[in-house]
Amino acid sequence: MPAAAPLTTTPTVPFMDLSGLHSPLSAQLTSVWDDVLTTGRFIGGPEVERFEREWAHFCGTEHAVGVSSGTDALRLALEGLGIGSGAEVLVPTNTFVATVEAIISAGCVPRFLDVDPDTLLVTAAGVQAALSPRTAAVMVVHLYGQMPDMDAILAITRRAGIALIEDAAQAHGASWNGRRAGSWGHAGCFSFYPAKNLGALGDGGALVTNDPALAGRVRALADHGRPLGSWHEHHFVGGTSRLDALQAAVLSVKLAHLEAWNRGRQWAADRYERGLDGSSIRPLTRRPEALPVHHLLVVQADRRDDLRARLREQGIETGIHYPIPVHQQPAYSRFRTEPLPIAEAAAGRILSLPLFPHIGEAQIEQVVRAVKEAGW
Ligand SMILES: *Cc1c(COP(=O)(O)O)cnc(C)c1O
Repeated sequence: MPAAAPLTTTPTVPFMDLSGLHSPLSAQLTSVWDDVLTTGRFIGGPEVERFEREWAHFCGTEHAVGVSSGTDALRLALEGLGIGSGAEVLVPTNTFVATVEAIISAGCVPRFLDVDPDTLLVTAAGVQAALSPRTAAVMVVHLYGQMPDMDAILAITRRAGIALIEDAAQAHGASWNGRRAGSWGHAGCFSFYPAKNLGALGDGGALVTNDPALAGRVRALADHGRPLGSWHEHHFVGGTSRLDALQAAVLSVKLAHLEAWNRGRQWAADRYERGLDGSSIRPLTRRPEALPVHHLLVVQADRRDDLRARLREQGIETGIHYPIPVHQQPAYSRFRTEPLPIAEAAAGRILSLPLFPHIGEAQIEQVVRAVKEAGW
């Protein structure tokens, strides 16, 4: 897979634009950062507690626990549920590698699933077919900002008596049949990596749940095994996986804009869809039950690498999420069970077009025109 050569000049349409997103907020961000500096509460404290309340409310769950990354949220979900020691976890191969890292670092074994050809998401039928007596959990991934058929998947995991964990790292605010990402499973796991729909100014994550015991265990595991309110008693062998107060303060500021930003992404996705009508490339299908938040605008294209090069000549930045399915990555090939043809074929066809909340109409039109003029 050839790596995209960096653009030699400033892109005419950047893939994303974090400085443009932050500049209207810079006075507010500096001010909350100053407040934390003044109080000196860098670990835990009121900023973290406030953001946790706000995030649980946003997701429609009882509890949110701030942690240090999305990867840690996923690992702590498994550890907090007591799932480890070789237990099998079903996971789509079309995901960011972190989902699988978390499964393995919790001591579990990933079982890779193929995906739906139109949404590139895990399917209920795939989950059902892969269930075995060793299966302890299903980790669904709301990839690109869209949720799979959660009604059907939840019914399967309930019938089987196994855990359902949501990797919602790309789906802040997405919903399926009106119910938000993170609120369906035993645990919902979010990343606040800067480029996510809600991003910190550094690393961060959160786990949301309606289970108070799970929330308490995860909180303790993320803080050296100390239960809330305890300093010297360590009930579990934990570690350091906390959300910083500085990041929590930033996240509270940015959360006030998340819905507007998601609407900006939805508007842009609609524009792209209409604009690309009549070309040979097609965005992924949206299911009527799903309200996606378009973390990425992924299309499938023939001769994808050629198209990508043509767009780059026009100063248009694109990405590929992800060019190598996880089961084909060198580090994970030892877990490979069977070919996963849909994900394998899609990996050579997918292309992520520029998309960010404040992308302009002219920029989208420029991308659409470049696609069509290149003959796709
Ligand atoms: C970003 C991401 C993660 C990992 O989040 P970090 O905060 O970077 O650890 C996990 N899963 C998916 C699908 C992601 O996109």
